[in-house]
Amino acid sequence: MSENKRTEIGELGEFALIDKITEGVEIHHKTTAKGIGDDAAVFDYGGDEYTVLSTDILLEGIHFDLSFMPLQHLGYKAIAVNVSDIAAMNAIPEQVTVSIAITNRFSVEAVDMIYQGIKAACKNYKVDLVGGDTTSSRQGLCISVTAVGRVKKDKIAYRSGAKKGDILCVSGDLGGAYMGLQVLLREKKVFEANPEMQPNLDDYQYIAGRQLRPEARTDIIHEFNELGIVPTSMIDISDGLASEVLHICKDSKVGAVVYEDKLPVDHQTFDVCHEFKIPSKTPALNGGEDYELLFTIKQEDFPKLEKHASVFFIGYIDEVENGARLVTEGQQTLPLTAQGWKHF
Ligand code: ADP
Ligand code: MG
Repeated sequence: MSENKRTEIGELGEFALIDKITEGVEIHHKTTAKGIGDDAAVFDYGGDEYTVLSTDILLEGIHFDLSFMPLQHLGYKAIAVNVSDIAAMNAIPEQVTVSIAITNRFSVEAVDMIYQGIKAACKNYKVDLVGGDTTSSRQGLCISVTAVGRVKKDKIAYRSGAKKGDILCVSGDLGGAYMGLQVLLREKKVFEANPEMQPNLDDYQYIAGRQLRPEARTDIIHEFNELGIVPTSMIDISDGLASEVLHICKDSKVGAVVYEDKLPVDHQTFDVCHEFKIPSKTPALNGGEDYELLFTIKQEDFPKLEKHASVFFIGYIDEVENGARLVTEGQQTLPLTAQGWKHF
């Protein structure tokens, strides 16, 4: 890069930016089994288990809007999204640290509400809150969580293990969190225009909940264990299905076929898409924050999951030369592209 050249971050995008800034990072320890590039880093301290670690920031105005995000839910979500990255390694979370930056706009009671949510999530996912940091912020609330988990070495699931012929699976319905956000933003506008109008979310409970209080699918990780399944690859869906399929394809050096008509969409998501006049498969493919797991299994494991109530089979892994493709509901085959979240 020449000294005077200024590159806008928006030109690169999030993923290319991460690649750029982490170029040339050296690994000094044999215990670092996997550094940057997966849902969590992987450490090998000996024995038959790996330790995995993941971290995420939630920033006011970028990741949440306090005009409709209840503080308890925010605390809960901060833990859930990190636990989700641990689950994406097929690992079980055990500890978290929580760091917060708060402005003087917040009262002690407000911060306590955030912690009620954090404690509720820790209880639900059986993780121990073991530390963190507290500081002031000039503008906006920031919560950063780091989660640590463990997994048997022979059970770890990387983004890079998918093989031709594997079945692409997703652990639950998609697009709900995105449509929930659209409804919340719409109700906010109505409220701003006329504060007498109280938002009515009765018909949108499910999708609003998907946005405000997502769950990490640790239940699926326990089920894999009971069923004797090790996904050949796995990633959690934070940026949208298409983006995550492309991550698996890139890291596993494979292609994939996704069938649009197999994408699971809840009926409430479907109805709201109709209301907003957008095809329901658009948020299923490109909406973010569902925090379901996208994973691949060997064909021989299919019978073990065939009757599972919340596992959907959405496509298969193909040769790398064929790229990632979407078979639309109209039976057209198109390249799979990711819109994802654009924070820059
Ligand atoms: P996820 O959505 O699963 O949290 P990301 O897309 O945020 O994953 O990150 C992809 C990979 O890049 C992860 O391994 C993450 O730890 C790493 N990463 C992200 N930002 C940075 C950064 N600023 N410095 C070093 N590594 C980073
Ligand atoms: Mg992830």
